[in-house]
Amino acid sequence: MQTRNNNESGSETILTKNIKMYYISTRPNEERISFREAVLNGLSTNGGLYLPANIPLLPSSFFKDIEKPDDKEIAFRLLKPFVGDSLNDEQLMGIISRTLSFPIPVVKVEKRIYSLELFHGPTQAFKDVGAMFMSGCLSHFEDDSGKKTVVLVATSGDTGSAVAHGFYRMPGISVKILFPKGKISPYQEYQICSLGENIEAIEVNGNFDDCQTLVKMAFEDKKLQEKVRLSSANSINIARLLPQMLYYFFAYKQLKALGEISDRGTVVSVPSGNLGNLTAGLIAKKMGLPIKRFVASNNSNDTFTKYIETGKYSPKASVQTYSNAMDVGAPSNIERIHHIYKRDNAAISSEISAYSFSDEETLTEIASCYSKNKHLLDPHSAIGKLGLQKALKENETGIFLATASPKKFSEVISMVIQDSEFENPDLSACTKTAMDNDIKQLIDKIA
Ligand SMILES: *Cc1c(COP(=O)(O)O)cnc(C)c1O
Repeated sequence: MQTRNNNESGSETILTKNIKMYYISTRPNEERISFREAVLNGLSTNGGLYLPANIPLLPSSFFKDIEKPDDKEIAFRLLKPFVGDSLNDEQLMGIISRTLSFPIPVVKVEKRIYSLELFHGPTQAFKDVGAMFMSGCLSHFEDDSGKKTVVLVATSGDTGSAVAHGFYRMPGISVKILFPKGKISPYQEYQICSLGENIEAIEVNGNFDDCQTLVKMAFEDKKLQEKVRLSSANSINIARLLPQMLYYFFAYKQLKALGEISDRGTVVSVPSGNLGNLTAGLIAKKMGLPIKRFVASNNSNDTFTKYIETGKYSPKASVQTYSNAMDVGAPSNIERIHHIYKRDNAAISSEISAYSFSDEETLTEIASCYSKNKHLLDPHSAIGKLGLQKALKENETGIFLATASPKKFSEVISMVIQDSEFENPDLSACTKTAMDNDIKQLIDKIA
């Protein structure tokens, strides 16, 4: 990796300077652990989420010269300080190469409105990057306890498929994916259930929050932890979260090349559910990425929107919408956001605005964006665009994250666009098991 370090400017010294990186819990305790341990544990012993103890600040020269290094080089330089000694340079570069094996293009949609397409990976949604990165990390983190590693995931759709593909056929790792019965799209179900082998798809008689609660309960079960090494691959895992910050740097790099970065500022809209992607963006901003502010674009699960409006956080049960990967009533990453901003509500709402949109508004946007721009949006990305339009002030440049491919949500899109052609997934070759919303049944499946 020496060659990598030679040609770069001052930023390199900051990035490779030996600041020892460690991870802490969002709920204060004594834990000070390495990246490796944080990835393997998933959740802190006191139920908190892990965060890096400090976020390195990049020098402005890094952004001035951001066109020079290629994306993998940028990824390496950004992720290295967070990974610390847990992976050597060669291992980290190998994981990055496997993770960034597909394009992440910025596409112009209309005047001053761009889309960052995060859906060109194996499961056509943004979670592929985090899942590939995390599975790559785990493949290097051998377990010396002799226990088998079980990756346990609750999904409202896209996490499950991304994790299933990221961990498929990975030796020594078995994966259990909990999804809410009848609440994910046929395409998502196909992607989760069609792999088999080390991937078990479990259909839960309940909603996404039930699935998430079951996973949390399993992690809190000391007896279970003695038998198996449990790992979460949800966005709560720090190895899922950190690589997502790369999107924002790649967006910036491409907007800069297009001449769209100006003093008037760049606003980024993030279609949000569990707030993992948004949190990764906030970390990128803390590292110095010149983003003026963020928009958390929500569907009618408006817990975060209400929080930004009122300063009060009141989690509630989720409701089902067309943008089902965002059907979250109690977003777990709110803990990380609170921690990053030291619980300063005023600071949070000055950097993040939030809006909620109904299914009807989502459909209307899909139809109008298609007729105006010949640009097809999936329901999540449509909400991202709606939020951006609401937040964008004159002369600012806006970009929304296009988090899923329209073809993953063909049933919704065909409600408003008749001439769209999509293939239907073949669900006949799929395998899944079923369970009730009952922790005992889950423990039986794991142990
Ligand atoms: C997961 C997901 C989201 C929400 O991302 P969070 O990090 O949970 O906020 C948005 N859109 C799509 C398509 C997703 O799969």
